[in-house]
Amino acid sequence: MRWIVSTLVGLAALASAFPAHTVQRATHQHDFGCSTEPSDAFLAVAKEMSRQERGFGRLSAANATIKVQTYFHVVAASEALEDGYVTDTMLADQLTVMNSNYAPYGISFSLAGTDKTVDASWAVDGAELAMKKKLRKGDYKALNVYFQKEIGGNLGYCYFPDSVSTGSDDFYYDGCSILFTSLPGGSATNYNEGKTVTHEVGHWFGLFHTFQGNSCSGDGDSIADTPQQLNATRGCPVGRDSCPGVAGPDPIHNYMDYSYDACYEEFTPNQVTRAYNMFNKFRVNGPVASMARRAPIDLDVSLAEIEAGKLD
Ligand SMILES: [Zn+2]
Repeated sequence: MRWIVSTLVGLAALASAFPAHTVQRATHQHDFGCSTEPSDAFLAVAKEMSRQERGFGRLSAANATIKVQTYFHVVAASEALEDGYVTDTMLADQLTVMNSNYAPYGISFSLAGTDKTVDASWAVDGAELAMKKKLRKGDYKALNVYFQKEIGGNLGYCYFPDSVSTGSDDFYYDGCSILFTSLPGGSATNYNEGKTVTHEVGHWFGLFHTFQGNSCSGDGDSIADTPQQLNATRGCPVGRDSCPGVAGPDPIHNYMDYSYDACYEEFTPNQVTRAYNMFNKFRVNGPVASMARRAPIDLDVSLAEIEAGKLD
């Protein structure tokens, strides 16, 4: 794994040498056979929620709490740490980070189970559905997190909520895959404080990237109180303003940007409202809307994209 980590650092440094010249197509990559983009249907759901949230204020977040039953699955290539067999301390610290980050918003995670599996193929995401059919636990409002040795060069990916039937393939796909080196104490420099999970779980709650749409106009992330953002942030560039003609600097401290872990600090009130509304709509109340197909995988930080300078 060390070569991958050093590659990440090296390519991140390389990417900083490239100006934002390929911005407009940054989130339309299909390098790994799946897309960073939510489906059109899911974008429409978010837009409609945004409209309702503007009209009626906070629909459900006031004085509300969500307690998420959570399952951790360690999937390693061997029982060696460098093969993804993370320690119990790292897992405990990861849970602490999740709870700390989400506590200000009334959201908590209670660990219902942890399992560790050694499988050379599953560890590198070689058989996603088979792995999840074996390991996934709980119902659709339960969070399943898979800590793996390698996931296509990404730090993490997750699935947006959707109307799914229990036991369907889409039901099993639900959950978040996380690169094991991003756990607290892991070796992914600048991304090893456990906040990749915080970001990915944001997607699980139905939140988009703050730079969704990669435009200074349009619907963006359909969240009223996140400033328009042209492209993803790298590092922690205080004062960054990729849309100078639009109110507000970039939300570089927002968990749904791509900043370093040390830079991540917050969700906005409207993001929290959205998370509650999405949770209520899709994960608690069951299917209430018909959507054509499962929302696609979110790829997040892709080494290939960093290498190509596509995200800066
Ligand atoms: Zn993401």
